[in-house]
Amino acid sequence: MNPQTIAQIKTELRDRLAVVVGAGVSGLASCRLLLPLGARVRLLDVKTDLDPALLGDLAGRVELVTGPHTPEQFAGAALVVLSPGVPILRLAKVLAEVPPWRVVAEMELSSWFTDAPIIAVTGTNGKTTTVSLIAHILKSCGITAFVGGNIGDPLAGHVAEVADGKTPEAQTLVLEISSFQLQTCRSFRPHVAALLNFSANHLDWHQDMDEYLEAKLNLFTHMAPEGRAILPASMAEILQGRSFTKARVIWYAPQGRFSCPNLIGQHNQANMEAAFLCVEPFGVSEKAAAKAMLTFSPPSHRLQFVAEKAGVRFVDDSKATTVEAVMAAVKSFDTPVRLLLGGVFKGGDVPALAEVMAGRVAAVGLYGGAREVFEPVLSPLFPTFWVPTLTEAVNRLAAEARPGDVILLSPATASFDQYSGYKARGDDFRKAVADLPEVLP
Ligand code: ADP
Repeated sequence: MNPQTIAQIKTELRDRLAVVVGAGVSGLASCRLLLPLGARVRLLDVKTDLDPALLGDLAGRVELVTGPHTPEQFAGAALVVLSPGVPILRLAKVLAEVPPWRVVAEMELSSWFTDAPIIAVTGTNGKTTTVSLIAHILKSCGITAFVGGNIGDPLAGHVAEVADGKTPEAQTLVLEISSFQLQTCRSFRPHVAALLNFSANHLDWHQDMDEYLEAKLNLFTHMAPEGRAILPASMAEILQGRSFTKARVIWYAPQGRFSCPNLIGQHNQANMEAAFLCVEPFGVSEKAAAKAMLTFSPPSHRLQFVAEKAGVRFVDDSKATTVEAVMAAVKSFDTPVRLLLGGVFKGGDVPALAEVMAGRVAAVGLYGGAREVFEPVLSPLFPTFWVPTLTEAVNRLAAEARPGDVILLSPATASFDQYSGYKARGDDFRKAVADLPEVLP
């Protein structure tokens, strides 16, 4: 969509129905953007036990409808706004009568209300780390940055607050973008956009790998020629021949020119390289970026050192929910790794993981779910056991460990069989480690 079409849609919304899907922070913030345009706003959520008090000052101005989605809820909608995490495929039936160009992601809607330059990051793994690093570098260089999107605050919230005069507009908007948000993308135009990597994930919501890759590439489709598209050199072969952007393309690979004590491993070298290429157009020199990186700490549960007991190091990588993240983690240590795996398996190539583990992993402690996925592949190759809980697995690996070993929670799964999320799983690991004696048995 060109700027005129966007302006037209915004004008058209006066007295028309706009439907927002998802009554979370992002959905509520979207309502705040739509109401000043004169739209009649309907907010949908599948949860029936929602407390209407969540509407706050929007009460009486927004129609809250809960329960399963139906085509009637969308009938006559001039615009449908999807919250992050709402895959359009799940809504295909109920949206059958709505023209596709009338369906937008919250992030895309929000981008219609701001002229601040957007740095957008997508990829299967490393988005949060890289986005946080970009913001850290910019802030260290005196450039204000709003950080959000898929993580933390929705862009709609920032944009609505700026419009209300409640907050000054940030000089840059640094956004983590999920492929769900990109599926409906028709006008989103970042100044700088990076694809970090690409692998099988969320395949339950994407018809196949090609559709998933196409969704990722939507990020680059509407960029201006003066924009910068940052792509991993490892994907050059798959991407060359596809026409997906007018922006200047920069292929990148880890060069080892940056370091950060809290970002170990070759994959983090790649993340640091991508982060620098993202901030460079804003006048940040290599020297300034390198200095800023030294003081960066990524958000918790990403290859995070927890403790050392009797010469054994314990590392929490609970956020590793994909096989590729585990491969990256295992490759990050040059001492024997005792690996904890288990949970709800989302798919991925376990034999390929086993190849990476060979020569690096001394033992495998399986716990909880996905035993049937890991055990047949890994037990013929590595000393492997299964126990019901993470704590039991930690205790057993610790009892067998030697000084110099690393006990690594990098589970390759979602955590929902036993935990509310990866944070709770990581916290449980830390507790199990804290409860171990200083001198291991
Ligand atoms: P995301 O936001 O994409 O889920 P995170 O930064 O939260 O990414 O990291 C998720 C997991 O992926 C962590 O286990 C982290 O160590 C791992 N990871 C980070 N960057 C990469 C990368 N470039 N390649 C593979 N794995 C990575």
